[in-house]
Amino acid sequence: MSAKVWLVGAGPGDPELLTLKAVRALGEADVVLIDDLVNEAVLVHCPTACIIPVGKRGGCRSTPQEFIHRLMLRYARQGKCVVRLKGGDPCIFGRGGEEAQWLRTHGVEVEMVNGITAGLAGATQCNIPLTLRGISRGVTLVTAHTQDDSSLNWQALAQSGTTLVIYMGVAKLSEIRDQLLAGGLAADTPVAMIENASLPQQRECRSDLTAMQEDAFAFQLKSPAILVIGAVAACEDVKRSQAAAEWCTDLAL
Ligand code: SAH
Repeated sequence: MSAKVWLVGAGPGDPELLTLKAVRALGEADVVLIDDLVNEAVLVHCPTACIIPVGKRGGCRSTPQEFIHRLMLRYARQGKCVVRLKGGDPCIFGRGGEEAQWLRTHGVEVEMVNGITAGLAGATQCNIPLTLRGISRGVTLVTAHTQDDSSLNWQALAQSGTTLVIYMGVAKLSEIRDQLLAGGLAADTPVAMIENASLPQQRECRSDLTAMQEDAFAFQLKSPAILVIGAVAACEDVKRSQAAAEWCTDLAL
C-alpha cells in the first residue's frame, strides 16, 4: 500500500470554519497528529482515529520536529491513513512546507488541505476588511518570531502600503512599534489586536501604533493573537457602509 499523509488545516478555531475536504480527510484517518492550536471540537469528524497530540503547549511539551516526522513516516509505512492536523493553514507559519518536503523525500505521498488562517479569520470576525478599495491595496502576513532571531525588513514593511497582519507578535509589541515607527509608519496608524479569533472567548483591542503596547498591557492581551496594522484596522461597519454608499454613487448604481 502506498504511504500517504494528509497535511490538513483545521482553521482558526471555530469548527464551522473547517473545509469539507478537511472533514473528509478526518473521516478517513486512522491516526491524527494534532497541534495545540487545533480546537479539539473538530475531532468529532474522526471518532475512531487514534489521536496523538504533538503540540508545544499541550501534554507533550515541545515535541521535537524530527520526532513528528518519524511518527508520520512510521504510521504511513504501516499503511495507515495519517492526518497531520494544524491550526489555521498548514503552510502559513505552520511548518507544512517543511513536513511535506521531508515526507516526500522519504517516499511518502502528501496531500495538503488548506485551512483558514488566523489572520484572515481574525480580521473578518472583527469586521475589518483586509483590503479595501482606495484604502488598502494588499495584505502582508508576517511573523514577528524568527527561529534564528534574524531581523525583518521593517522599513520595507512600513512603506509597503499594505495592511500588515502580524502573527506571534504578543511578546514583541514594543519592538514592532519601534521598528515600524523608525521605518516611517505614521504614529497614529490604527492597530487591532485580536485574541482567540473565531472562538467564543475571542477578544479585540483597538489602538494605534504609538499606544499599542500600553493598550495591550492594560487589556492583558495573550497569545494566540494577531495584530492588524493599517488604516483598515479602524474600519467599522458604519464607515464601511458609508464607503460602500459612496462607491455606489461613483458607479452610478
Ligand atoms: N498556521 C497557523 C499559524 C500558526 S503560528 C494559521 O495559519 O493560523 C501561531 C500563531 O498564529 C499564534 O501565535 C497567533 O499569532 C496566530 N493564531 C493562531 N490561532 C489564532 C487565533 N485563534 N486567534 C488569534 N491568533 C491566532
